[in-house]
Amino acid sequence: MLDLQKIRADFPILSQTVNGKPLVYFDNGATSQKPQIVIDAIATYYQEINANIHRGVHTLSRLATDAYEESRGKIQNHINAKLACEVLFTSGTTHGINLVAHGFASFLKPGDEVLVSALEHHSNIVPWQMLCEKTGATLRVIPMNENGELIIDEFDKLLSEKTKIVTVNHISNALGTINPIAYMIDKAHQVGAAVLIDGAQAVPHLKPDVQALDCDFYVFSGHKICGPTGTGILYGKEEWLNKLPPYQGGGEMIKEVTFEKTTYADLPHKFEAGTPNIAGGIVLGTAIDYMNSIGFDNIQEQELALLDYATKRLLEIDGLKIFGTAKAKTSVVSFNIEGIHPYDIGTIIDKLGIAVRTGHHCAQPIMNFFNIPGTIRASFAFYNTKEEIDVMVEAVKKAKMMLS
Ligand SMILES: *Cc1c(COP(=O)(O)O)cnc(C)c1O
Repeated sequence: MLDLQKIRADFPILSQTVNGKPLVYFDNGATSQKPQIVIDAIATYYQEINANIHRGVHTLSRLATDAYEESRGKIQNHINAKLACEVLFTSGTTHGINLVAHGFASFLKPGDEVLVSALEHHSNIVPWQMLCEKTGATLRVIPMNENGELIIDEFDKLLSEKTKIVTVNHISNALGTINPIAYMIDKAHQVGAAVLIDGAQAVPHLKPDVQALDCDFYVFSGHKICGPTGTGILYGKEEWLNKLPPYQGGGEMIKEVTFEKTTYADLPHKFEAGTPNIAGGIVLGTAIDYMNSIGFDNIQEQELALLDYATKRLLEIDGLKIFGTAKAKTSVVSFNIEGIHPYDIGTIIDKLGIAVRTGHHCAQPIMNFFNIPGTIRASFAFYNTKEEIDVMVEAVKKAKMMLS
């Protein structure tokens, strides 16, 4: 078992009070907190090696470049990519998805189909809608059931030679559902479609193996795995990244520029135009090291214990309904209390020091499916405790009393 006291001491923010109460941070699905080692690494970069990368022959530029590329290598190992050049630094999940969707404009024509799921975050819906608008391709939606699980029979039926790309999250941010992506990737490949996996909610809980999954693209954000904001990764198979056109033009992404013609740099630089978030990219490696030092087996064990406990305790409250009851689920509990707006509960429990997300969680189609304006979402990380869940349950009971 994890030594929670020791782990919590790594996160300075967790010992703060908010509104005069000890902070209970249950908004990990929106962003994780940062351990001191990550916070320190940002300062160390600027104090000791700050320089632009891949450009200078001077010592600092070499040191910064080496640190940046070393971090890329760490991430390559972490997700088991075959090649370092298949790992692109981005500003986050949203950036990664837009990069791929933009590139697919060159491959699609009217009549082609893009398959998304009913469980997606807006950032895995809107770029594909924009792509379909631009190309005349059709967006198709894999439906879900009342438990918040994708209906796989329907997915099978939607697949055809018209399907060019299937884009689905590994884990739903709004409900916590873990999707059967290995099966879906295999099936999509049988009709020749590419597959993008939105791993934003998966990487905080598990270590994806992109070669075993055989996905064509896998994207995630650094800030949800103890790393800095404005960082992220787009993994793409080398053959796909070679085929995709560049997303942005500028410095770093070129081989040779004349006014007649520009040739593009090799991977990964072709997709890394301009000066990137150098400190962020380096420190994302530090964050991944930190997560691995805790160990993903330990993380999962702790988070599943929290999920079970929170589910059991919340259901003690009369009129409380949990949305998202999939068999395969991660540590997210999305709930409402009959007759009370989620926002009102969120506001009251915030006064008691508890940070939860209220609203549609950037997944309005899911809320429309359940015919609700939103939910209260408590999303747990490995540094959370059962005692904090007790505090939340008591606060929700109190809020319910005040509001009904
Ligand atoms: C957070 C999240 C995103 C968007 O990530 P950004 O860091 O805001 O780019 C996309 N998909 C899912 C499932 C998410 O949880």
